[in-house]
Amino acid sequence: MKIKTDILIIGGGISGLSLALKLSHLAPDIQILLITKEEIKECNTFYAQGGIASVWSKSDSFQKHIQDTLIAGDGLCNEDVVRLIITKAPEVIKELIEMGIKFTKNADGDYDLGKEGGHSERRILHVNDLTGQNVEEVLIKQVRKLPNVDIKEHWCAINLYATNFRCDGAYVLDQNTGDIYGIVAKATILATGGAGKIYLYTTNPDVASGDGIAMAYRAGAIIANMEFYQFHPTCLYHPYAKSFLITEAIRGEGAILKDINGSEFMEGYHPLKELAPRDIVSRAIDAELKRTGDDHVLLDIASYKSPNFIKSHFPGVYENCIKFNIDITKDPIPVVPAAHYCCGGVLTKINGSTKVKNLYVIGESACTGLHGANRLASNSLLEGLVCGRECAEFLAKTLKDNKINEFEDWEPGHAVPSTEAVVLTQNWDEIRRFMWNYVGIVRTDKRLQRAKKRINLLLDEINQYYWDFKIEKNLVELRNLATVAKLIIVSAISRKESRGIHYNIDYLTKSSMIRPTTLRRPW
Ligand SMILES: Cc1cc2nc3c(=O)[nH]c(=O)nc-3n(C[C@H](O)[C@H](O)[C@H](O)COP(=O)(O)OP(=O)(O)OC[C@H]3O[C@@H](n4cnc5c(N)ncnc54)[C@H](O)[C@@H]3O)c2cc1C
Repeated sequence: MKIKTDILIIGGGISGLSLALKLSHLAPDIQILLITKEEIKECNTFYAQGGIASVWSKSDSFQKHIQDTLIAGDGLCNEDVVRLIITKAPEVIKELIEMGIKFTKNADGDYDLGKEGGHSERRILHVNDLTGQNVEEVLIKQVRKLPNVDIKEHWCAINLYATNFRCDGAYVLDQNTGDIYGIVAKATILATGGAGKIYLYTTNPDVASGDGIAMAYRAGAIIANMEFYQFHPTCLYHPYAKSFLITEAIRGEGAILKDINGSEFMEGYHPLKELAPRDIVSRAIDAELKRTGDDHVLLDIASYKSPNFIKSHFPGVYENCIKFNIDITKDPIPVVPAAHYCCGGVLTKINGSTKVKNLYVIGESACTGLHGANRLASNSLLEGLVCGRECAEFLAKTLKDNKINEFEDWEPGHAVPSTEAVVLTQNWDEIRRFMWNYVGIVRTDKRLQRAKKRINLLLDEINQYYWDFKIEKNLVELRNLATVAKLIIVSAISRKESRGIHYNIDYLTKSSMIRPTTLRRPW
C-alpha cells in the first residue's frame, strides 16, 4: 500500500513540530505527513523540565553563552554552529511566547531565569519544572490547526527506502491496523529523538530507542560522536518510578547531594560542587556508589528551602515524588544517575541535510556540532527549535526541485507472528544491562571489548530472525537498539582518550588529535 506526500516528518517532538509549523507557514501548498510512534505527546520533549537556554538578562551576552557551550563541548563543538544557534535563541523564544507559552516570571514581572550546571549566567527560561510539557502542548495545538499537515499517531517507521545515497520515503507500520505502508515523499525528515532505552537506567520515555539514527545509518548516512552519551546525575530511585528525572534546577536552587548517611561529598570532586558539569556530578555519584556499595544517594532540598518555595518552583517533581510517598519539602530525594541525552547522532548541517539525498535529520537524532563531547544543559530544546526552522527554510526554497520516486511495496515474505516473545525480551534486557555495566559512565578498554563481543553475537541473532517474525514495534526497536549500541561501542573503542563525557580509565588524559568520531556502513 502506498501513500504519497511532499514531506514525511518522522517524529512529533520539538524539532518535528517546529519544522511542520514553520514549513507550513512558508509553503502552505506543500503536503506534510507527520507520524509518531506512540501518542504524539510521548516524546523526550514532553518530559523536559529545566527549560530552554537563551541570553536574556542584561548581564549576559552571546559570547558568554557561546563560551560556556564550547567549554562543555570540550574541543569538539563546531564554533560556527554554536554561534548560529545561540544567537537565534532570543528570536525563537519570542516566537514561543507569541504562540502562548507562559514562561515563569518573578515577583518583579521579569522572566525568572534559571541557572544550571556549566552556565556562567542565569539564562534558562522555564515554565516552572514543566517546560517540555507546556512547549509540546502548545506546538501540538498549533500544528493541529494547519490544513496541510496530516498527523498519524501510533505509526512506527520501520526503515527508510534508500538506494545509492538517495532517500525516497519510508516503510511504516500502522500499529492500529497492522498494515505496512510505503510512504513516498520528496523529502524525509527524521526527528526521532534520542536512544536512552539502550541503557538499563534512563530518564527517557520508551519511544527513545534510537530508531532514526539506526535507519539513517542503514541508509548510508554518516554517524558521528556516538561515544558521547550524557548521563543525568539525578533520576528518582524507586522500584516503581520509571524514568523520572529530578531537574538540575533543584541543584541550581541550592539542593545538596549527600550519601545515605547524610554526608556531603561533592566538595571532594569539583570546586563548583553540585553545580559542576553533569558528567562530573554523574561520575562523582557513580564513584560514591561504588565506594559505599549503596544503590543510591540523596538529594536534599528540604533542608535549604521553604516548603512554599519548593512547591511553587518544582510542582512537577513535588507531585511525582509524593506519589511514591516521598515528600521533598521534608525528606531528601533518593537518586541515581541515568542515561539522558545522545550528544552524537547523524552528521548534519544546521538545516538537517545529510550525506543521503532528500534525507534530513533534526533534533536529538542529529549531530550538528552544537554539543561536541558534552551538551551544555538546556541547549537541546533550543537546537530542536532552531534546526526545525532552518530545515523548513531550506526545504521551502529547494523542495520544488525534488521529484517523487516510487518504490516497491513492503514484501512480507514468510514472516509469521512471533511465538517466542521471550527471545525479544531477553535480547532487550541483555543489551540494556551490558551497555549499562560495560559502556556506561566509567569505561575501560576491556569492558568495551566485552561489550563488542556481546553486541556482535546479538546482532547476528537478531538479523537471523528479523525477517522470520511478523513486523511489530518491539522487533523494530530491538534491531535499532542493537545497531545503535554497536555504534556507541565502536565509537567508544576508537576514542583513545578521555574527553567530555567519554571517560575511559585506561586513558585519563586527552590526546592531541581533536576530531569527531565518524562511522559509515559497513563497519
Ligand atoms: C526527562 C528529560 C528532561 C529533559 N530536560 C531538558 C531541558 O530542561 N532542556 C533541554 O534543552 N533539554 C532537555 N531534555 C532533552 C530534550 O528534551 C530533548 O533533547 C528534545 O526534546 C528532543 O527533541 P526531538 O524533537 O529531537 O525528539 P523527541 O521530543 O524525543 O521526539 C521524538 C519523536 O520521534 C518519534 N519516533 C521515534 N521513533 C519513531 C519511529 N520509528 N517511527 C515513528 N516515530 C518515531 C517519537 O514518537 C516522538 O514523537 C530532557 C530530556 C528528558 C528525557
